Amino acid sequence: MYEKIYSNPDIYKIYVPLPNNPLKNLNCYVVKTEEKNLIIDTGFNLRECYDALSSGLKELEVNIAKSEMFLTHLHSDHTGLAPFVMNDDSVIYMSKIDYDYLNNDSEEYSWNTLYRKYMSEGFPREAIETLHKSNPAEAYAAEKSFKAVTVKNNDKIKIGGYEFSCVFTPGHTPGHMCLYLESEKLMFLGDHVLFDITPNITFWMGTRDSLKDYMESLNKIKSFNVITALPAHRNSSVGFYERIDQILEHHAQRLECCLNIIKSNPGLHAYDIAGLMKWSMRGKGWQDFPMHQKWFAVGEAIAHLDYLRGQNKIYRRFENGTYRYYAF
Ligand SMILES: [Zn+2]
Repeated sequence: MYEKIYSNPDIYKIYVPLPNNPLKNLNCYVVKTEEKNLIIDTGFNLRECYDALSSGLKELEVNIAKSEMFLTHLHSDHTGLAPFVMNDDSVIYMSKIDYDYLNNDSEEYSWNTLYRKYMSEGFPREAIETLHKSNPAEAYAAEKSFKAVTVKNNDKIKIGGYEFSCVFTPGHTPGHMCLYLESEKLMFLGDHVLFDITPNITFWMGTRDSLKDYMESLNKIKSFNVITALPAHRNSSVGFYERIDQILEHHAQRLECCLNIIKSNPGLHAYDIAGLMKWSMRGKGWQDFPMHQKWFAVGEAIAHLDYLRGQNKIYRRFENGTYRYYAF
């Protein structure tokens, strides 16, 4: 299933469903020109995603031998099918930071290290064990590695006479990239700005303060002239600049809320702080959250705590195996 969303260059959107996922779908964008095509993001390495993507590409008569791919970031709903739809010698662009992250098999960047980190933030051990078996991010990644042409901020990608610029926008992932077509004032946003959902900002190994990076990256793209904003999930429902301001305001409020929780409950760990934060989960209480939602919630709580620590509003102490947070 595809839809033409732009002319000159011709841009199509392939609807890739993400089963059992609150994001609902991935928008795979295809820029089609006489000379070359560019495919942006893929969907999970899952049968349903593969079927939707490959039939979309087929209906569009996309010749893979004449196509390149751009991956906005490392998440498996964006990269999972890259090695399966492209050829071994295809050009796949991705930021060096995210590419290295994806291919870093050192202990420091392993799931096990991340699980230990979450336990040190109060996440229960039994819950971690359940998660380990069912974590979609862990399960649906491209198990086959692929070669990438790594790109950095302001690198240019030429597709059939159109010049796209890479815009480094770390935050959602450490090496997230948007892609800007200045001649059309058009930007592929990846997960940097989403419209009826808020991009997940979480803790990353090797990153000190991902929320600060993220808010700086939001302010960065505000300085671009954007008329057509193309998010990687769902649709754009309000204006681009308006949405950026809404997201900035959302985080300002959550930071305030986090700080108030710590002031009134000194010595909590991140897991309990997450339990006291407000979540839009259709009226469900924290107890009823599925475990993987708690995982995302705690990651988000840690990102806000890291930011507040960076602003010298709070500090943490390591006590009996977990970090406990206090306000200054
Ligand atoms: Zn993502």
